[in-house]
This record gives sequence, C-alpha cells and structure tokens, in this order.
Amino acid sequence: MPVSLNVNENTHPLPEEVVNDIAAALAEAVRGVNRYPDREFLALRDALATYLGHGLTADQVWAANGSNEVLQQVLQAFGGPGRSLLSFTPTYSMYPLLADGTDTRWIGVPRPDGYALTPDVVTAAIRKHSPSIVALCGPNNPTGTSLDLDTVIAAYDAFDGMLIVDEAYHEFEEVRSSALELLPGRPRLLVSRTMSKAFAFAGVRLGYLAADAAVVDALRLVRLPYHLSALTQAASITALKHADAMLATVADIRGQRERLTVALTEMGYRVHQSGANFLLVDGFTDPSATFESLRSQGILIRDLGIDGHLRLTAGTEAETTQLIDALRAFGPGGA
Ligand SMILES: *Cc1c(COP(=O)(O)O)cnc(C)c1O
Repeated sequence: MPVSLNVNENTHPLPEEVVNDIAAALAEAVRGVNRYPDREFLALRDALATYLGHGLTADQVWAANGSNEVLQQVLQAFGGPGRSLLSFTPTYSMYPLLADGTDTRWIGVPRPDGYALTPDVVTAAIRKHSPSIVALCGPNNPTGTSLDLDTVIAAYDAFDGMLIVDEAYHEFEEVRSSALELLPGRPRLLVSRTMSKAFAFAGVRLGYLAADAAVVDALRLVRLPYHLSALTQAASITALKHADAMLATVADIRGQRERLTVALTEMGYRVHQSGANFLLVDGFTDPSATFESLRSQGILIRDLGIDGHLRLTAGTEAETTQLIDALRAFGPGGA
C-alpha cells in the first residue's frame, strides 16, 4: 500500500548514516554466527539501561523480540491457570490474545467516557476484580490517551500483584513523565517499551522492559534459550548509539499529528486527545465505508470496530497531506 498508516509505525526513513553503521555492525556480527549469541545480551541491556536513564542498570532491564514477546514472557511468568490479567478497554488488542495463549483469565474493564483513567477508576476496578496482573497502556493504543503517574501509583497500591505500564508510545509524549520514575521501592512495577514505534525499528523486533532485578530473574525462567539473535543484538546496540538521530523525526511526527487534528476538527470530526503518533477520530457515519474508500486510493488506516471511529497514524508530511486531502474530498462524515 503506498500510504500505510495502519499499525502506528514511524513512516520516516532511517537516517542514512545510521543505516550504514548498522550494516557494518551486522557484517561484523555475521562473522560470529556459527556460535550462539550472548544469551544474557548484556551489551544490549547495558545500552538500553543507558538510554532509559533513571539510574537503571543492566540487571533491571530485559528484552525480547518485540514488546509483544516481553508481555508474553511476563504472562508466562506471572499469569497462567488460576491467574488473571486486567486492563481498561478499548486498549491494546494483544493483551487478551496473550492472556488467552497463556491460559490467563482476561478481565477487560471499559474506560469511562473520554477514555482517560483516574486513580478512582483504576482503584475501584482492581479492588472489585482482584486481578493477578494489571496492564496500563500510556499513551493508550488505540485511543491515544495519556496516563498520569498518580493513576499508576493508585493502581500499584490497590493490589499486591504485578503492574505493567506499557509505554510503547512514550517518546511521542510532549510532557514526558515516565513510570520509570516510580520504579525505586516498587518491586511489582514493570515498565515496557519498544523500538518499534518512535525508534523506527519495527522490522528488527526489539521490545524491552525495566523492573526490579528479581522480575528479570523470573523472566529468565520462561524465555527460550538464545531468544535474541546476534543480529538483533548488533542492530539494536548500534541504533541505540544513534538514539538522537533515530528519534529526530519525532518532532515532525508530532507536528503532522497536530496538522491532522486541526484539519479533522475543521471538517467537523471529534479528535480524542493523543500523546502518541496516532489519533482516534470520532464522527464517521460509516467507518468501514471510509476505510474502504481510502484503501481504494492507496491509503491504509485502521478500522477498530468502534462505533463512528477510525484510527489514523501521523506519517510524513506528504502522507499526511494525502490523507487530509482524501478525507476533505469525502465531505462531512466521510465516504
Ligand atoms: C505496537 C505496540 C506494542 C508492541 O510492539 P512490538 O513491535 O511487539 O514491540 C506494544 N504495546 C502497544 C500498546 C503497542 O501499540
């Protein structure tokens, strides 16, 4: 599809000097692939700890093939038969699937109108359902809703299970307070991130989390040996060395998101607050018809089956222009 704005990737190309450096690192790594990779991927965990800051060290950092695999490992370690995972819907569609695949009971609690979570909302739901694990996604996919730290603290204090804060879109937030700040003294808190979104590295598959070292030890028990290939490790370490260059497009993406917001609001749509690189937009008379019309013009977005809504990823300036022009041509309510 010429304009793919359906899975929240960073659609900007990687900087050429980073591409060259990664290619050189991969060439070097290939010379060693007759041997198994470092199963503890210590150099990568070190690089991730440095990138995250907050005084974190490699023993508090874990990684896998995408944060989907990190979340799966968390559920393998802390979920399972007789245990449950609670989150607030609509949210990331992989949570119930990963719960299902690990025989963990899924508890989806609807978000209040406007989708924002508050300390009262999360406390009441957690006390009512007594889950083993709670996942809070901030900014939340697919709504874009930011998550404040008071809500994370309230969730943590409301039960004695594991709390995962999924910060897949963290780098897109303007005001960047991260749940990483809350890690000291909270051994049941896990903060997950990914290189798939702002870092423009979706094809490499590298997700990671920061938590108490004892949590990392528990994940070691469920991972398959050598789960991170030598090539993945080499590519990711090199990309992290160029973190500033890799993240240089974030400001432009935020600008495109603002352009989209202004244009859609002018067209009469209701745009939900978003701290991510996508917008959940309300006001489509027939979302699936608009989705199909855009697709026939080579523009792919996401129809989540939420009444009246579609999700649009902010792409490059040219992609955003195409999307805005196509939507404008439909007139009020879409096609
Ligand atoms: C995209 C996404 C992820 C997963 O990404 P990976 O590519 O597996 O790292 C995790 N959580 C949320 C909320 C996402 O939107």
